[in-house]
Amino acid sequence: MQRTDALASHFRLDLGHQKALKRLGITTVEELLYHLPARYEDTGDIQSVAGLEKGSDAVVYGQLSDLKTRKAWKSRKPIAEGYVEDGSAKIKIMWFNQPYLAKMYQDGLYVKVAGKVTGSEGKLYIANPEVERLDSLPIDRSDSIFKDTGEADDTLYPVYRETAGVTSKWFYHTVLKCFEKGVLEHLVDPIPKDVLDRYNLPELKTALVWIHSPKKATDAEAARKRFAFEEVFYIQIQNAQNKAAVNAATTYSFKTAPDHIAAFTSRFPFTLTNSQDTAITEILANFSGNHAMSRLLEGDVGSGKTAVAATTAYAVATSRPDTEKDWGNLQVAYMAPTEILAKQHFESFIEYFHHLPIQIGLITGSGCMKFPSKVDPKRPTKISRAQLLKWVKNGEIPIIIGTHALIYKSVEFKHLAYVIIDEQHRFGTNQRKQLAKKDARMPHLLSMTATPIPRTLALTIYGDLDITLLDEMPAGRKPIITKIIGPGQQNDMYEHVRSELAAGRQTYVICPRIDEPDESKATALRLKSVKAEAARLQKDVFQEYEVGILHGKMTPAEKDKTMKDFSDHKIDILVATSVVEVGVNVPNATNIIIEGAERFGLSQLHQLRGRVIRGTHQPYCFAVTESKSDKTRDRLKALATAKNGFELAEHDLQFRGSGELYGAKQSGLSDLGMEAIKNLKLVEAARSEAQGLVRRCPDPADFSRTYPLLTHKLTLLGESLHME
Ligand code: ADP
Ligand code: MG
Repeated sequence: MQRTDALASHFRLDLGHQKALKRLGITTVEELLYHLPARYEDTGDIQSVAGLEKGSDAVVYGQLSDLKTRKAWKSRKPIAEGYVEDGSAKIKIMWFNQPYLAKMYQDGLYVKVAGKVTGSEGKLYIANPEVERLDSLPIDRSDSIFKDTGEADDTLYPVYRETAGVTSKWFYHTVLKCFEKGVLEHLVDPIPKDVLDRYNLPELKTALVWIHSPKKATDAEAARKRFAFEEVFYIQIQNAQNKAAVNAATTYSFKTAPDHIAAFTSRFPFTLTNSQDTAITEILANFSGNHAMSRLLEGDVGSGKTAVAATTAYAVATSRPDTEKDWGNLQVAYMAPTEILAKQHFESFIEYFHHLPIQIGLITGSGCMKFPSKVDPKRPTKISRAQLLKWVKNGEIPIIIGTHALIYKSVEFKHLAYVIIDEQHRFGTNQRKQLAKKDARMPHLLSMTATPIPRTLALTIYGDLDITLLDEMPAGRKPIITKIIGPGQQNDMYEHVRSELAAGRQTYVICPRIDEPDESKATALRLKSVKAEAARLQKDVFQEYEVGILHGKMTPAEKDKTMKDFSDHKIDILVATSVVEVGVNVPNATNIIIEGAERFGLSQLHQLRGRVIRGTHQPYCFAVTESKSDKTRDRLKALATAKNGFELAEHDLQFRGSGELYGAKQSGLSDLGMEAIKNLKLVEAARSEAQGLVRRCPDPADFSRTYPLLTHKLTLLGESLHME
């Protein structure tokens, strides 16, 4: 058996099976082997029903049967009862005074049952047991495939991520069969041996055996560490190769005089913060260097990223290409994730540039604009797409702002020297490539984000970018007051908001969903929906104020209209989902109520509340939770005390499970990879090893000859990222 063999050529797979595996991205033996267990369970504490004795604390796994309720013989009190059966025997379970319990479970359900064994010999039962539903039964010790060597530790079995049609057990057994068929014999480790040795990581064959059928917990741990390292290592090689490619390309190199910049920034109605100054200086230094810049500008909402973008765009738009003597200018493309944001950037840029003879274009899916208009030099005007494209192509429009519409093939530039990308997570670098498609030179890249990212994640997914932090808020901003609102505290909150509305302010209300879900889920999850909550607030709470709604299922035109109405203060209270675009700027909105706050990561909550810190009035954030758990409230309290978003992101990473980390989904990391980034040492090791490897072998063709297996892995990684 070879790693590249199709699973179907060795195992009988019916269509349902094949489909299910495909959903998990598994068609080959290799992909199966890399479908790693999500966790392990210890069968050491599982007892067989046949062996249960009176008075013992039992934990058994089995199937439920004969569930029913009846009245007790003498007392007439209700009793719920049934049986649990595990293959060795069955035993009765009884709950007293809890007749509804029998109705909560169904016959045939797989369960874990824990409780005290009572009754008399021959009539044993488990009294008032705790019952936990299971997707499948664990592999028990009598299972033939689970070779019990009698060693105390030999009780770990893996639990795999399942999908409808494939069970965890199937994965386990099939992987073991692959081992038996000798797949390991032909496997060559893609990671160089010296790298593994330096960090004491098990080599591939050992690691596969250890991760799929560990004899000891420490073996499983070591194997997981190896695969985590492997994943980060591949990403870091890709980062290093990207960086090498950028460094090898020619770019636009130009110098800007400090006076020239000062003439632009001195007109701002504010002084730049130190971190804005530093950011601008770093970027201008990159412009005058030999390699294209690749930089990430990270700063909370309101930290002034747009001012940095505008100033550096000014430097570009007022520089001449070195191929022209006395005419022409370099160009800037500024890409935003949504139409609303693209328009907002367009308007901000008009503010920054209106005194200059510099034209600005806007291109989105729903139309094009240009500033200034020929008729009224103070205003923008609508123009045709064809006209705009023509002026971009001949270089007449130096600054062009837009959505994804910017990367369509038809958009061509004359001298694209600078690409600014807002909130695109990992993919800013790809967009630069697409934008620069027909240009011989590599434009400089500034990727901007308000998403607070922990250092390890940034090092991994932005590994090829230099990072600049805007970690300082402009002077004069009032720090936000954040309150955690528990059950029964809503009224005070509404009274506060009412007084704010009376004083002329506006409010956001964020809800976890759009529509009222079906009854059962609504009560189970108690999630407020945008539509229902808006109706309730209008009818019962804020009759005298105008309530509007905004959510992701509205068309761009509807969204625009609502945002405009909110910004014109025709709407007082905007009820929205959390997808409301980051960075939408309505300075008069100074209150934000976040319903179901416990469902969000802290860094996401931080980003949501960032929407209300734009103005000069005191901002407030109310994080509303129905949860009575102290743990939840304590976690939310960090919101009130953390100094900035980065602190909260680290908090999320360590305490909440990295899978829920904001921005994690876009990162393309697996669950194990996300686990890995909790470990700074591991990430740094993988990074420096990858950089070393690429430094010694910078030519891509050379690299793929020297490391064919690594190259194969990188191709797979590239494909999976492309699929998103
Ligand atoms: P970001 O894009 O980081 O969210 P913006 O660049 O949109 O932030 O700035 C937010 C607001 O703060 C804007 O109204 C801008 O004019 C203003 N601003 C930017 N820099 C400063 C500064 N140094 N001092 C005072 N106000 C500033
Ligand atoms: Mg912004």
